[in-house]
Amino acid sequence: MQAITHLAAGAILGRLADRSGAPRTLALGLGAPLAVASHVILDDLARLTYHPSDPRWDDAFWLVFMAVTVLAALAGAWWWRREAVWMGLALIPDLDWVVRALGQCGLPLAWRPGDLHDALRGLPGPREWGGLMDRLPDWRGLDAASAVEAALVSVLVTLAWALGVRTSTGPGGTGPSPRAPRA
Ligand SMILES: [Zn+2]
Repeated sequence: MQAITHLAAGAILGRLADRSGAPRTLALGLGAPLAVASHVILDDLARLTYHPSDPRWDDAFWLVFMAVTVLAALAGAWWWRREAVWMGLALIPDLDWVVRALGQCGLPLAWRPGDLHDALRGLPGPREWGGLMDRLPDWRGLDAASAVEAALVSVLVTLAWALGVRTSTGPGGTGPSPRAPRA
């Protein structure tokens, strides 16, 4: 999945942890594995979305799609910056691709690119989920499948926004009101 999808998932988990009222350290300790696991669970849905395995530098649609997703990720990272730790956890497995890029620059590989994803997919939970997802159609090469990820991101962003809205229930409360730096 694209970075914006993982960032939105991290922001949702961070806001859920915030709403739980649990001490931050406890919430992070319990929620961190979930945030990391959310990455491979979302990645397994990528077969339903536009996700070519290799860059298509001569394809205008691919170029526009990548530009939009990069801009969306930058906007999301800024918008949900208070959930930076959670977003980082949700993106950790993509260190695989950082390692691959460094390797392509001639630097020694810290691990085999893909190992992080594979290790997480092998765990109970993600493993069973991945088995189910293997039965889905593979639309990764279809331009139109970009609409699937756009719809999913819309749902996740709406959820993150809703979790950032606080309601005032005390005397004189004015009902729903957004917390200033959140969305
Ligand atoms: Zn990934």
